[in-house]
Amino acid sequence: MEGCIFCKIISGDIPSKKIYEDDKVYAFYDINPEAPTHFLVIPKEHIESANTLDDSNIDIVSHIFKVIGKLVVDLGISDKGYRVVNNCGEDAGQTVKHIHFHVLGGRSLQWPPG
Ligand code: 5GP
Ligand code: ZN
Repeated sequence: MEGCIFCKIISGDIPSKKIYEDDKVYAFYDINPEAPTHFLVIPKEHIESANTLDDSNIDIVSHIFKVIGKLVVDLGISDKGYRVVNNCGEDAGQTVKHIHFHVLGGRSLQWPPG
């Protein structure tokens, strides 16, 4: 979608540190990491947020979790643990309106989040 920074990352118009890519998803390191390991997994299809998931596009979520399961092993954070976060909407602090799943690990994470 025009004007979407994550669509531009997928197309290569904005550079990123890619971890993984297939025909459906793209994974890359967050530019402002909040943990020693902090990456984002996004669908190549522009979906605005969890609020716009429906029967037509929901299958991407299971694929994303399958990819996350592989990447956390590859990056060595699966055993000690990690957190998957999806911020949806203003109150959750969603700043990029292209659905994304944060994966954070490599340190002890606090709960509840702020
Ligand atoms: P949100 O706050 O919407 O849940 O998360 C958006 C995330 O995207 C933030 O953690 C932010 O650091 C990251 N981000 C924003 N712009 C860029 C960018 O151009 N490149 C990368 N790699 N990450 C970005
Ligand atoms: Zn987009």
